[in-house]
Amino acid sequence: MMVTADGMVTPCCFASGHLGSLHEATAEAIWNGPIAMELRQFIKADKIHPVCAGAPCKFVQNALAANTAGKDSEDNGVNTLIFVEALYLEANPDVKIAIENGQFKSGLDHFEQYGRSECRRLKL
Ligand code: SF4
Repeated sequence: MMVTADGMVTPCCFASGHLGSLHEATAEAIWNGPIAMELRQFIKADKIHPVCAGAPCKFVQNALAANTAGKDSEDNGVNTLIFVEALYLEANPDVKIAIENGQFKSGLDHFEQYGRSECRRLKL
């Protein structure tokens, strides 16, 4: 778990969602709380929990790669993650500039060539 300066608890440094707040519960209560328990169940089932959606970690990125390879998310047990061009460019303004300069055809083009291996954020 990770605690941010404002007391919010996240499962790791990649996740954009929270498990709870230390202003409202103890770390032990959050660790054993419903969101953390559900998150562990999702991971054990090879599914992406909403707390982790869009995270640049290997688990989420591998699921995205499986989806972009055309695999059915129902077949491999991974929730569907959709690459959203506008969100990717918002999170990676340098890519937007590179596209304007003609270096890439699109954000997806950049993601497939570099973004995935660089663990770029898919959204802010
Ligand atoms: S799946 Fe990724 S974002 Fe979610 S807890 Fe694990 S490392 Fe963090």
